[in-house]
Amino acid sequence: MISPDAPLRLTLDTEALVANWRWLAQAGGRAACGAAVKADAYGLGARQVVERLAAAGCRDFFVATWAEAAALGDWPDGLSLSVLHGVREADVPFAQGSRARPVLNSIGDVRRWRAAGGGPCDVMIDTGMNRLGLAPEDTRTALLDGLEIRTLMSHLACADEDHAMNEAQLFTFRGLKGAIAATRYSLANSAGVCLGARYAFGLTRPGIALYGGIPRPEADGHIRQVVRVEAQVLQRRRVPQGGSVGYGATFVAERATEIAVLNIGYADGYLRIFSGGTGRARAGGVPLPVIGRVSMDLTAVDVSAMPDVAEGDWVEIDYNLSETARLSGLTQYELLTLLGRRYQRRWV
Ligand SMILES: *Cc1c(COP(=O)(O)O)cnc(C)c1O
Repeated sequence: MISPDAPLRLTLDTEALVANWRWLAQAGGRAACGAAVKADAYGLGARQVVERLAAAGCRDFFVATWAEAAALGDWPDGLSLSVLHGVREADVPFAQGSRARPVLNSIGDVRRWRAAGGGPCDVMIDTGMNRLGLAPEDTRTALLDGLEIRTLMSHLACADEDHAMNEAQLFTFRGLKGAIAATRYSLANSAGVCLGARYAFGLTRPGIALYGGIPRPEADGHIRQVVRVEAQVLQRRRVPQGGSVGYGATFVAERATEIAVLNIGYADGYLRIFSGGTGRARAGGVPLPVIGRVSMDLTAVDVSAMPDVAEGDWVEIDYNLSETARLSGLTQYELLTLLGRRYQRRWV
């Protein structure tokens, strides 16, 4: 028996994804443009994103962990997959049999990789963020001698802002490039690509902008939304004057109000932040403000202006990433990665 479709869905736009990758590739000048597909491609579906971007010409992909590499399954020759979080002892057996490369972040990672027999790897150097990566001093020893370094990388802490750290990290990374031999060098995430081709080196690693996030104003007007959120109307009802809606009875109708109860809630990443008019759905372009509190699986919207919205209809939830980030105080990254497992994900 076919299981029924979920009453909520994400529509994912292949053309927009590919157009975003092409814009980022072009903004990176001569650098190859890769793709961060960690966290299941920020919730869109890593396998589906890799297939689409590979078909467009993308060759370099990044996941966080070996579990994510395993979940991707097999991939065709000619693609490269890097595992950003290094190689723990427990990862070694899988890593040895995998075509993915570890990104070595610590002295321990380097030792484990050598002890496991080595082979092609990437190396992350910390140039000031103090997150993952070797300290530049560590690389002035014999630590890296003889390693087959495919990509030497570092990560920008403040690329989404005009911050003095950007130029400082660029300067440090240039010095490292002169001192450590690698096939390619890579510094820029999405926001870093927007800082200009000086930051691109041989390979860029955008994530959020591929998926519709606007990391800096330079990307505005070029990056297209990839994800549309829609929920089905489960019930339409009339709330009489003085009637309340939802938990806590935070909404009380000043006049008789028509509402639609939608199959979406905070368990789907549609957080309570969107309660009480902060969030909106939309039908035929008309905004339908959220009424009362968002609950775990359900959200009510005002459809008084829309007599035709009926049970079974699909309505779109306003989820433009940069606008919704401003409205909610959440980041564009959180907005995407919050979207849960209950959606049907439809690629068009
Ligand atoms: C997540 C990540 C990226 C992609 O960053 P965006 O800001 O989403 O473009 C690139 N490099 C590293 C090391 C990352 O962890």
